[in-house]
Amino acid sequence: MNTLQEKPYTGMRVREEKTTGSKALQPGKQYPWHSMTPGEVMKLLHVTPEAGLTDEAVAKRRELYGRNIMTKTKQQSAFVRFMLQFHQPLIYILLAATVVTILLEEYTDAIVIFAVVFVNAIIGYVQESKALEAIDALAKSMTARAQVIRNGQKQDINAQELVPGDIVFVQSGDKFPADVRMVHERDLKVDESALTGESVAVEKNAAPVAPDDVLGDRLSMGFSSTMVTYGHGRGVVVATGDNTEVGKIQQSISRAQDLETPLTRKIKEFSHLLLWVILGLSAVVFAVGLLRGEGIGETFMMAVALAVGSIPEGLPVAVTIMLALGVSKMAARRDIIRKLVAVETLGSTNVICSDKTGTLTENQMTVQQIVAGGKTYTLTGLGYRPEGEILDGESQADLTSNHALKQCLKAGMLCNDSNVKEKEGLWTIEGDPTEGAMVVAFRKADFDVRELEHKQPRQDTIPFESEYQYMATLHGGNRPVIYFKGSVEAVLERCNMAMQANGELSQLDKEEINRQVEEMASEGLRVLACAMAEAPEGTKDITHEHTKSGLIFLGLQGMIDPPRQEAIEAVKLCQKAGIDVKMITGDHAITAAAIATQIGLKGRQENGKLVAITGRELQQIGDRELEEVAEQTSVFARVSPDQKLRLVKALQARNRVVAMTGDGVNDGPALKQANIGIAMGITGTEVAKEASDMVLTDDNFSSIEGAVEEGRSVFDNLTKFIVWTLPTNLGEGLIILVAVILGTQLPVQPVQILWINMSTAVLLGLTLAFEPKEPGIMDRPPRPTGEPILTRDLIMRTLLVGSLIMMAGFSLYLYEIKQGASTAEAKTVATTVIVVMEAFYLLSCRSLVRPILQIGFFTNPWVYYGIAAMFFFQALFIYLPLLNTMFHSSPLDAMQLLRIFGAGVMLLLIVSTEKTIRFRILTRKAGTSA
Ligand code: ADP
Ligand code: MG
Repeated sequence: MNTLQEKPYTGMRVREEKTTGSKALQPGKQYPWHSMTPGEVMKLLHVTPEAGLTDEAVAKRRELYGRNIMTKTKQQSAFVRFMLQFHQPLIYILLAATVVTILLEEYTDAIVIFAVVFVNAIIGYVQESKALEAIDALAKSMTARAQVIRNGQKQDINAQELVPGDIVFVQSGDKFPADVRMVHERDLKVDESALTGESVAVEKNAAPVAPDDVLGDRLSMGFSSTMVTYGHGRGVVVATGDNTEVGKIQQSISRAQDLETPLTRKIKEFSHLLLWVILGLSAVVFAVGLLRGEGIGETFMMAVALAVGSIPEGLPVAVTIMLALGVSKMAARRDIIRKLVAVETLGSTNVICSDKTGTLTENQMTVQQIVAGGKTYTLTGLGYRPEGEILDGESQADLTSNHALKQCLKAGMLCNDSNVKEKEGLWTIEGDPTEGAMVVAFRKADFDVRELEHKQPRQDTIPFESEYQYMATLHGGNRPVIYFKGSVEAVLERCNMAMQANGELSQLDKEEINRQVEEMASEGLRVLACAMAEAPEGTKDITHEHTKSGLIFLGLQGMIDPPRQEAIEAVKLCQKAGIDVKMITGDHAITAAAIATQIGLKGRQENGKLVAITGRELQQIGDRELEEVAEQTSVFARVSPDQKLRLVKALQARNRVVAMTGDGVNDGPALKQANIGIAMGITGTEVAKEASDMVLTDDNFSSIEGAVEEGRSVFDNLTKFIVWTLPTNLGEGLIILVAVILGTQLPVQPVQILWINMSTAVLLGLTLAFEPKEPGIMDRPPRPTGEPILTRDLIMRTLLVGSLIMMAGFSLYLYEIKQGASTAEAKTVATTVIVVMEAFYLLSCRSLVRPILQIGFFTNPWVYYGIAAMFFFQALFIYLPLLNTMFHSSPLDAMQLLRIFGAGVMLLLIVSTEKTIRFRILTRKAGTSA
């Protein structure tokens, strides 16, 4: 304990644990865990590596240290985020208008304009926070798991339940769930960029390091939030939650959500452009007014009115809100969006590159064929219920007579990290289905599992990694033995001899085995090969070196993994929607092609069969040629992660918008490169999730299809909103321009325009976000990349509606004046007619192409609630004295209201006619081309 007191104080804080009587720990003291030996650490933390903590100790420690959650996260302060709401060019104009109106001593106007800016900022702030929270909460809802030893048993727990002293296991792909002092490690490499910024992975080592070593040099420690990129290890938790190094620097990685997307950026650019145009026009208005010899105050108010009217203040916020709503809609479909941008990109996705196993298939493996000792056996029974028979032809196989079969089954059982379990009559697996299937096969042979594990206890493991395509285990007993299982290629590469039925060895006939593999694979079976080797006496651990060569081939196990029914449907939908689906798998080429055919993928064929390109073939292909190959081919087999990256790039070079799935540690770069990186929620590693834009909680291909559908719908609704909002601004701008040109008074005043823009955007426009999907949303091709949001047709409609609004507003205003109404009344009429026309136009905007009668009246009740609320507020605007003073408005009579509604109905009729004509042309075109 001497060492403890002399060390400088650099480690983590540990509070005294009174209840478990750990005398060695001193309260409030931080211990340099990294420079202690693992033994010292264990002693201090009162734990043994074999047994772990007891439930009792865990409960006490939880009380003392709390849950393993980080509470402090560094974020922009609320105040800064609020102030940033004012940091928009369009808002600057309004702020300037406030100042000008004050100078002109129009105090009510000044107050109203500023109030609008303020309210706008509040709405923006609240909505933005909500969007951030929603995404954050979703991201957090993906609870990290941790493998621990407690009560002497290995368990899988929620990482939040960890306490100091827990013994945890990590392996490649995991995120360190807490700060851990390594006790044992095997080739453990960790990416600590989250903590140190250093992106080169560091290799960990349980040996103590110097006490004053900085974080990056503490090789004996694994820090919370860092990623294991290679190998595996075991360690003891020394700090949790806020006490971890990451917790201390108060920021956790990837929290900084970016609310900016290409679309919002485009809109920003658009509003910058608009700003200059509007400023220019305002200057013109100002000049014209002065030339006419009108007062400076009056002309200035005109310029302000023009600016205020033409600026779509609500647009940027509305877009963000609508995208954020998309996030929660997708969450309801079990797709977790990690980045807002994904919602938007999903809608224009035109290639989906999907994993096979578990995504397109059920991942319900059952061994159906075993080839060993020159014989082929079939297995009966489906699923993980370990009941069924191993048949040799028609009759039950005689297991004792075939040593190779016995060893092959044994290899499958022992070289295995998974288990089958019965729960309420249902057999399920814990772990990897491929392995579970082999456990079941072994149990069908009626061998005694316990005896086997007792006689040949495992001493070391090389875990399965896609990159190596195999797993190996070392077993003690009379003589140490290595069992080995993996892809056929990986096994054959390492074998020269094969075991025969009588247990003797013979020369391995690789050709014959490959022939059998192809036969099995062409039926869609996933084939794994088993092998073994005797290890030298006294071997205690194994490395990839030990299994390089000299293995004895034992046999093949072929398992079915049926395609997911819903994936078949989803693939069809995608194809109809002009989205190519490609399979990228680590599995055998023939198996992959067979499954792809069953699923209905389309692509290059030979002799009526889909062609699968293997990773090895990809290596031979240059980047240019790859573009063509990637385009044509739909099945890629035995593909390594770096080839996935090449494939994404090749597709993108052809302007493809690529969604790509991934689960492994090394899939990170491909996931990041893809336009939409999709991580598997169940089988995916933390590393893959961190790199992704979206997580599929059910690993199911059809969820990707669903997300694309949702993405398209969100984009549709956004477009509807834009098409709805722009004509208003256009109409208002035109009214002012025309007034200036004609030299009349302004039909609407700046504050009234602000009233319109603010209230309608929220009450009317945003209800479009709840518009259900257009029918046939998956019958049309993806939106071409680079296509402007407003097509020519939509621009025409914007111009049409904008002019109609201007004409109605202006003519009603002039009419009222002529009838002898007060200017306040006339202006109230003009303001109200714009509002009412917008409400009617909203009904039409519920669909971009379908005429109003075809939309279905009750599919989006929000539209009607919104309109009702808008009319209510407009009534207040007209009749409430307080609002009358604020907005210079005045009560109207029934005839005036009637004329206003007449204008609204007219607008709807005109737009509907326009739409009907276009729709006819559109459907006729579609009809002739089909
Ligand atoms: P995928 O998930 O795309 O089917 P993987 O990369 O998981 O591909 O697997 C590639 C190959 O590695 C498989 O075809 C199989 O031969 C082998 N394999 C898969 N899982 C295991 C495992 N648990 N142990 C040993 N080998 C395996
Ligand atoms: Mg796999």
